[in-house]
Amino acid sequence: MLLKENVPLAPYTTLGIGGPARWFAGAASEDEVIEAADWARVRGVKLFVLGGGSNLVVADAGFDGLALRIGLRGVAVEAAGATARIYRVAAGEDWDYLVDRALAENCAGVECLAGIPGTAGGTPVQNVGAYGQEVASVIECVRAYDLQERAFVELNAEECGFSYRRSRFNTTDHGRFIVSRVDYRLRRGGEPTLRYADVERAIEAEHLDRAPTLAEVAGVVRRIRRSKGMLLVEGDADCRSAGSFFKNPVVSGELFQRIAEQRETAPPRFPAGRGPENEGMVKIPAAWLIEQAGFTKGFALGAAGISSKHTLALVNLGGAQASEILDLAERVRAAVEERFGIRLDMEPVLVGF
Ligand SMILES: Cc1cc2nc3c(=O)[nH]c(=O)nc-3n(C[C@H](O)[C@H](O)[C@H](O)COP(=O)(O)OP(=O)(O)OC[C@H]3O[C@@H](n4cnc5c(N)ncnc54)[C@H](O)[C@@H]3O)c2cc1C
Repeated sequence: MLLKENVPLAPYTTLGIGGPARWFAGAASEDEVIEAADWARVRGVKLFVLGGGSNLVVADAGFDGLALRIGLRGVAVEAAGATARIYRVAAGEDWDYLVDRALAENCAGVECLAGIPGTAGGTPVQNVGAYGQEVASVIECVRAYDLQERAFVELNAEECGFSYRRSRFNTTDHGRFIVSRVDYRLRRGGEPTLRYADVERAIEAEHLDRAPTLAEVAGVVRRIRRSKGMLLVEGDADCRSAGSFFKNPVVSGELFQRIAEQRETAPPRFPAGRGPENEGMVKIPAAWLIEQAGFTKGFALGAAGISSKHTLALVNLGGAQASEILDLAERVRAAVEERFGIRLDMEPVLVGF
């Protein structure tokens, strides 16, 4: 394991913000994961696991511990019955590369998750989702180093405790596991998922005289993402972000009704998700609440801003400090709370605060 000192973290994040890690190392194998974990444990040093840095706000003062960058690579594909394929993907693989590979091999299950930045190992952490799909529905197994038990474990989807933007990895067991591999069960020759109005409309506009292919659906998703600054595009200042900065709040049917009665147009609504805790609940787009609370695309506060393409993304306009991003986030949250009584949850992970 090559250990470096005082390595700036900003270049390792899509937001491009953050001070140095006191120590920094890369792990290219499971043995290196164990080595780094032991190194930190023996010295009583905090450990932070860094993937693609696409969901992070790193403090201006940096991280006073070991940042371990996950660099394990490799994809193995196995047939499982007539139509299923299991993709065993090392945690450091680029997620969008995996999506492309699945599309090329005509495997369904991740086509709506095209264009999400970051690593495969990052996907179970917040159960990434977009345009009607969530990674939870295709995860067969997560292999991870358990820092508590000091052993590798394999967790099935149920044991991962997935729900909307949540898993045990970012809630009850935050910081306990280092993911080394994720196995995805995809459907060879399966139909694409068409569950999201924007995607359905864009497909209709193509006037195909047949069902769309997986690649066509993924293409539409990437186009929509690009128009919202939600695709990493070289030179597009609007994608200097951590993606959506706020989660879409899940509220009771009564609160939704009250909000709808106060406004001329009712807020858009989505199903809250599966599980008994979501019964009678409604998901409202955070972007709608933010706009109704008086913020517009392109709003700036110092070097922190709201994306000019999407109200849900906070962007680094150039040389922003983490504190400026968080000040802007707090302003947005306070305004939404004052107007609707809803406290928005932040989606990115805060490091070093
Ligand atoms: C332009 C843009 C668009 C986005 N769109 C979406 C979207 O549509 N849907 C969505 O859900 N997200 C979206 N995101 C957020 C982000 O891409 C995902 O959350 C992604 O899965 C994060 O992966 P990462 O490898 O970059 O993780 P990082 O940002 O490096 O880390 C995020 C968290 O995961 C942990 N982590 C990462 N790798 C591992 C590992 N191997 N083991 C243990 N813990 C690990 C980190 O410790 C940290 O807590 C978007 C981000 C951007 C910048």
